[in-house]
Amino acid sequence: MTSSFVALKGLDKRYPGHHAVRGIDLDIAAGEFVAIMGPSGCGKSTTLRLLAGLEEPTGGSIAIGGRDQAGIPAHLRDTPMVWQSLALFPFLSVADNVAFPLRMKRLGAKERRRRALEWLDRLGLAGMADRDIAQLSGGQRQRVALARALITQPSILLLDEPLSALDAHLRVRMQTELSRLHRQLGITFVYVTHAQSEAFALADRIVIMSEGRIRQVGRPQDVYRAPANPFVAEFMGMNNLFRGVCRGRADDMATIETPAGHYAVPARRPLAVGEPAAFVVAADRITLARAEDGPPSGPAVRGTVLGLEFVGSTQTIFVETEGGQEFRVQKQQHEIEALDLVPGRAVHLAWEPRHAWLLPETE
Ligand code: ADP
Ligand code: MG
Repeated sequence: MTSSFVALKGLDKRYPGHHAVRGIDLDIAAGEFVAIMGPSGCGKSTTLRLLAGLEEPTGGSIAIGGRDQAGIPAHLRDTPMVWQSLALFPFLSVADNVAFPLRMKRLGAKERRRRALEWLDRLGLAGMADRDIAQLSGGQRQRVALARALITQPSILLLDEPLSALDAHLRVRMQTELSRLHRQLGITFVYVTHAQSEAFALADRIVIMSEGRIRQVGRPQDVYRAPANPFVAEFMGMNNLFRGVCRGRADDMATIETPAGHYAVPARRPLAVGEPAAFVVAADRITLARAEDGPPSGPAVRGTVLGLEFVGSTQTIFVETEGGQEFRVQKQQHEIEALDLVPGRAVHLAWEPRHAWLLPETE
């Protein structure tokens, strides 16, 4: 990234008894949509709160638009934030909630009202200005919170799991809305979520954190197809992870010895014989056949179906190999209909060696 609008350098936050953010470096371009993901407690919200000025870093720096943010209080920053719990004022009308940040900026009542109506209109809430917050649905409240955050025309919007309190249907609608807003406004969005589907649908780049550190930054297709380490590979959930030792090198392939067998893996990085190695095969890259139909060509593993899980039209099949390794295989419903997969059925799993991804890092 050549021009960075937001620059985090060695950003660090220690609470008494907990080191929440551990030296984060991250550059975000102007207008980018960045999603921060990671398990609960990994430091996502803390990072966002540091950006918003709601917490003081214990180390490192934050620059926005080239300006060091150290010492600038939250209310003087250009970094409004939207939460899951919205934090709307129940005793103010919808319009007064939206206009609230302008009151802090000492704008006149008429101008505040005019701008609030304009933003309510933009967010599909025309005609609701004088209602009580309590009279709104969850989705409408979410829009009020967005209008309130955007009314000061910030250059960056921070969102902390803003959709997680909504039901599935509404979440998808708000996702579309956020995407539209981001395109229309052209401002930078930093979006914390634990929902992979949201991050993948919305973000230009995804940041994956674990225990206060960034483990990978990349476009959605990169973290999905080319995870940097076992943590990211397993966090993405649809990968089968193998750990082992490199036993041979020929041309661009390496042979990796694992407890489940020896496998050929494209060696896209330097890897010496005897070195520990880890690779993944994505669940949707694995083919599956019934054992009685004979082993398929290419590397194959014999196993037993443990169970099946439906997600819409795709199905995840869990298979345990004879060596005790658990595999996930992801297929479209129609691809496996004829196989009559039930728990206990013996199957062969296979994949093309070129679909194995050697992880750049082994830890
Ligand atoms: P996430 O949003 O990724 O779930 P947080 O950034 O909220 O995680 O928290 C990261 C870690 O820091 C957690 O273990 C949390 O308990 C701890 N933490 C957060 N805020 C405080 C605080 N004010 N005092 C002490 N520990 C905190
Ligand atoms: Mg959080």
